Amino acid sequence: MTMETCPKCSSSKIEVGWILSAGKIAFRSDRLPYPFTGGNVRTYVCLDCGYTESYIDAKYLEKIKSKLASDGEPS
Ligand SMILES: [Zn+2]
Repeated sequence: MTMETCPKCSSSKIEVGWILSAGKIAFRSDRLPYPFTGGNVRTYVCLDCGYTESYIDAKYLEKIKSKLASDGEPS
């Protein structure tokens, strides 16, 4: 998933990067406790208005979906 156009101002000037803390920001589902690590959060920024949009790493999404499937919940 990527952000090609700003949903707020329709600009196509989109910059991609990471939101930083001491390291990359990651998302960890409550459904995937230890030993599962989180998925990195990739972020896109509109260079005209500053709107940001973030996506979780695709491999981590697959881990969450697999966990849901093994728990017998609809995917
Ligand atoms: Zn914008």
